[in-house]
Amino acid sequence: MRKIVNTLFGIFVALCICGFIFSKRTEYATDTNGWNLILVNEDYHVPQNYAVKLTKLDNGERVDARIYPALQDMFDAAEEEGIYMIVREGYRTQEDQQKLMDEKVEEYKDKVQVKFVAKWYAEKWVAFPGTSEHQLGIAVDINADGINSSGSEVYNWLEEHAHEYGFVQRYPEDKTEITGINYEPWHYRYVGEDVAKEMFEEDVCLEEYIEVNFTN
Ligand SMILES: [Zn+2]
Repeated sequence: MRKIVNTLFGIFVALCICGFIFSKRTEYATDTNGWNLILVNEDYHVPQNYAVKLTKLDNGERVDARIYPALQDMFDAAEEEGIYMIVREGYRTQEDQQKLMDEKVEEYKDKVQVKFVAKWYAEKWVAFPGTSEHQLGIAVDINADGINSSGSEVYNWLEEHAHEYGFVQRYPEDKTEITGINYEPWHYRYVGEDVAKEMFEEDVCLEEYIEVNFTN
């Protein structure tokens, strides 16, 4: 009897140790550096019940009310230069993000047949639920209107001017190793004018900016 108890106890301890080693504790993003500098990525998840006051755009998309004036200014400026853009995606809930991920995994499953491989590919394109900036309401996917402007015209204009309005390209082509996300010329994230200008001039992504300025 004693032997069985000892064995069971041994198994229990082993399981606890394995659980401890393999469980990656979820860390949550904080706004201690300011709401405009919340860092959300694979390592820092959107805080549960993150509350945000939203403003609805004409096309039904929603964004954090605090970025709306800057976003509107940017769109007005673009239009003055003959660039016509739309916000294809603004705020997303956790459920929206989960749905996107599920759809992407299905899409890849049709191609590769193996679920974990499909998941791996999908995660290169869709942020894991809880790790998308869209859940903060301060990130937008901007596309061409499809009538007056082309995608490349819009992406080029944004690359040159978005920082003047407080937005930065969040997933640049040469920073994929750091951001963990493929190049997304349409995804812009609000950080505020001063920070955006600094990031633009220094050519750093948000992970790098935070590391340099806020990590001791
Ligand atoms: Zn996006």
